[in-house]
Amino acid sequence: MSPEEFRRVGKQVVDWIADYRAGIESFPVRSQVGPGEVRDALPAHPPERGEDFDQVLRDLDEILLPGVTHWQHPGFFAYFPANSSGPSILGDLLSSGLGVQGMVWATSPACTELETVVVDWLAELLGLPAHFRTDAAGGGVIQDSASSAVLVACLAALQRTGEDVARRGITRRHALYVSAHTHSSLERAARLAGIGADNVRVVDTDPETLGMDPRHLDELIAADVEAGAVPTMVCATIGTTSTTAIDPVREIGEVCRRRGVWLHVDAAYAGVAAVCPELRWINDGVAEFADSYCTNPHKWLLTNFDCSALWLADRAPMIEALSILPEYLRNEASESGEVIDYRDWQVPLGRRFRSLKLWSVLRWYGAEGLRAHIRDTVALAQEFAGWVRGDPDFELLEPHPFALVCFRPRYPDLPVDEANERTHRVMNALNDSGDLYLTHTKIGGRTLLRLAIGSPATERRHVQDAWERIRRAT
Ligand code: PLP
Repeated sequence: MSPEEFRRVGKQVVDWIADYRAGIESFPVRSQVGPGEVRDALPAHPPERGEDFDQVLRDLDEILLPGVTHWQHPGFFAYFPANSSGPSILGDLLSSGLGVQGMVWATSPACTELETVVVDWLAELLGLPAHFRTDAAGGGVIQDSASSAVLVACLAALQRTGEDVARRGITRRHALYVSAHTHSSLERAARLAGIGADNVRVVDTDPETLGMDPRHLDELIAADVEAGAVPTMVCATIGTTSTTAIDPVREIGEVCRRRGVWLHVDAAYAGVAAVCPELRWINDGVAEFADSYCTNPHKWLLTNFDCSALWLADRAPMIEALSILPEYLRNEASESGEVIDYRDWQVPLGRRFRSLKLWSVLRWYGAEGLRAHIRDTVALAQEFAGWVRGDPDFELLEPHPFALVCFRPRYPDLPVDEANERTHRVMNALNDSGDLYLTHTKIGGRTLLRLAIGSPATERRHVQDAWERIRRAT
């Protein structure tokens, strides 16, 4: 493709994206295709001759779009948002246009240095502690996902136990501590790091707040020490996946400090809310106790997937755990010790110029634009929660400090299993309608519907409409 062809087709593609985003409401939110439909519509073999890009766009419209679930649709209330924005898309496009592979500083200094600036900016915007900044002992880095971030944290935690796991492998039994509401990526990290799923301890939670019980955590750690195991990492969550419950980070941190255990704080969804001073209380205990902390701008901060920010209070154990210097990567800058090589801060070697999209977002919206997005979505969720609370046919799960509301229809005459089944049927009917998309969770054996607001396209009328539809379906 020549530069001139790229210019022509590129404009068409940008127009396509702009039209798609402008007309997104005309699509069913959740794809309505069945398994194999998209695949069957595509040729079984690759083309022998190159084709015009118009044909790619035609197939995108005719074959792929029916198989797309529209995450940016104003009626998308499922999971957590993975919101995007114009500046983020353009930043990502620039990253692709530059085609940089920023594995070490020397392979593209700007890729490394912009990332350092942007994660430091983000730490400041979220009120995170100064020791997370790169010019202190810690530092931040952009990962592809919170799952990768926690794996990196786990490897650093293993290294800090003094076992030199990076060299000798795991020679003792290590243990990791979560609650029943911790994200499954923790168990994944334990498996990948060689700790093993059986050594993931599940700490009790408070039945009201659903937050981790620090006293039980302390007991489990004591029992493990007694049994000769090495308590390695605790994960406290700010905004759990099911319900956005918050673990008591400060109390958990005190236990970790006393017991010498690494504290990872997983704020994948909710952490970005701290851009608003009135929500910054969620960081309580982070400055004093977190060894690592992660939040995903790719969920709720207008930045396209993938962009997960991980900070460490002390980067040394992570670098000890991950740094290997083969001959082909040796270079003067790395050896001078004056530069950061982010390859030592992640699992893969190669890395994209991800900071461009976050930089574009931070510059386009500014802190006040980001605060407005968080505030608007939180306000819509609170209004929705008010409607649910005021309706005797529904039960609301409290609290709901962010933009996720969990609730369920009341079926007072039905046994729990049947009420759960009915709730599922209601959700499936709504999702099949194509008008909105909800997901569910189960707390205390009861199925709850989850309505997460996060798309910048979602206005009050969409939430009102969703509520009307939910009531009618119920
Ligand atoms: N942690 C929490 C609390 C989450 O809610 C999620 C995803 O929803 C994750 C971790 C995993 O995020 P990622 O997809 O970035 O790995």
